[in-house]
Amino acid sequence: MSSRTVIRGGLVVTASDEIHADVLIEDGRVAALAASGTPAAESFTAPRVLDATGKYVIPGGVDVHTHMEMPFGGTYASDTFETGTRAAAWGGTTTIVDFAVQSVGRPLREGLDAWHAKAEGNCAIDYGFHMIVSDVNEETLQEMDLLVEEGVTSFKQFMAYPGVFYSDDGQILRAMQRASANGGLIMMHAENGIAIDVLVEQALARGETDPRHHGEVRKVLLEAEATHRAIQLARVAGAPLYVVHVSAEEAVAELAAARDKGLHVFGETCPQYLFLSADDLAEPGFDGAKYVCSTPLRPREHQAALWRGLRTNDLQVVSTDHCPFCFTGQKELGRGDFSKIPNGLPGVENRMDLLHQAVVDGHIGRRRWIEIACATPARMFGLYPKKGTIAPGTDADIVIYDPHAEQVISAETHHMNVDYSAYEGKRVTGRVETVLSRGEPVVEDHRFVGRAGHGVYTPRSTCQYLS
Ligand SMILES: [Zn+2]
Repeated sequence: MSSRTVIRGGLVVTASDEIHADVLIEDGRVAALAASGTPAAESFTAPRVLDATGKYVIPGGVDVHTHMEMPFGGTYASDTFETGTRAAAWGGTTTIVDFAVQSVGRPLREGLDAWHAKAEGNCAIDYGFHMIVSDVNEETLQEMDLLVEEGVTSFKQFMAYPGVFYSDDGQILRAMQRASANGGLIMMHAENGIAIDVLVEQALARGETDPRHHGEVRKVLLEAEATHRAIQLARVAGAPLYVVHVSAEEAVAELAAARDKGLHVFGETCPQYLFLSADDLAEPGFDGAKYVCSTPLRPREHQAALWRGLRTNDLQVVSTDHCPFCFTGQKELGRGDFSKIPNGLPGVENRMDLLHQAVVDGHIGRRRWIEIACATPARMFGLYPKKGTIAPGTDADIVIYDPHAEQVISAETHHMNVDYSAYEGKRVTGRVETVLSRGEPVVEDHRFVGRAGHGVYTPRSTCQYLS
């Protein structure tokens, strides 16, 4: 059983409030808050007292889009649940929701069991699962109902990657109809993969094999078209829709138009689309491979639309789509053929800092930072208020954050199991100092003091924006 802890003197920032308050933690949960310096706060006593004077006290980050040990293109994402959740904690994230994968022709249950086996006993922080449905049939539709009941309440489908994860419109409609009935939330990778594959083939035939062509064939219009189509299919099915990794201005416009009609349509973007661009993908030689992910990095002009979407709430969540592949030996699989570069970027450790930098840069406010990185992802995927805020009764997943510390992001110092950083050399203001998971220290004064197996599987309720 956890001992009591008091966090004194910090500015407690949640999605709704900023208050100078002391926080009392008992048995892994927040027991009480009281304005600092008042008799109520002074009555908080505990063997462990953390001084947060001059610091922020924020809810631990909730990253609802990670791929630890994800099989892709004949290799595996290089972070295991152990290394990936440790890196997440270093970066102030205390909950991940990862994607269990259904193998085509096999039951959902088999995929989910396999992901439980990878994660159990290995995680430093708490975790949940979405289910990737790659094969829609009568059995998988029935299994979706059972999964929702046991806390796997969201299902990802792909309009991209024909022959791998791809679902056609009929399969998507059937899964959406099922989700409409059982309360599940369909998460969509919205890119027209059939058309993209034609463009890939044509580009390679012209000898256009460099990493930058990955971005050029995955056209903005094919993201916007798929986003539009997914929205219409969801309307026909009467189902809510969550579009993952939105990268293009035209796709944001589709989401905004749907939301203006009052539809339950939600959108997520990722730090790589906010801070990186097609210029990175066009780095000389093969270095652009470090930035190959799908949807791809876009020309810099798209960033303004993404920031605006985050401010106007046309985009609600920033997650990482953390799916790291080492440059040496993994990204290199695509030398001479960009279509063989494993798709994915590392980022689980960098999200909270990069979004704090967005506060410093004036893109978003401090509470909006917590809203898009902690509270809304927790609500969207049925983890709130256990995760995503600081209030009496919530899990004491808390970060003491120094908003003035300066740091330089680098592969030399990061903790992700990958040999490069997508943000190498980037200076950011703000740094995680201490991380608690259910009241237990995981990072303390810039030292990792957590352990594999502390993190537990966390079943989720259905999306909390629908009721
Ligand atoms: Zn992903």
